[in-house]
Amino acid sequence: MTRELHCRDVGFDCDAVVTAEDDDEILRQAADHAKKVHAMTDEEVDDPSFATVVREQIHEKV
Ligand SMILES: [Zn+2]
Repeated sequence: MTRELHCRDVGFDCDAVVTAEDDDEILRQAADHAKKVHAMTDEEVDDPSFATVVREQIHEKV
């Protein structure tokens, strides 16, 4: 089972896709990516609203 998140789905104009075995790992990678590529701060990615948005957009890889 592979889970997947498209960066575009959380509101960035970006073609990056994060894949992982579980949602917690996706969230970790997405936070990393958002900081590196989208200049988000630690405070922003640690905010519960970021996790909420990310988790809503994670789906099963098809
Ligand atoms: Zn991105």
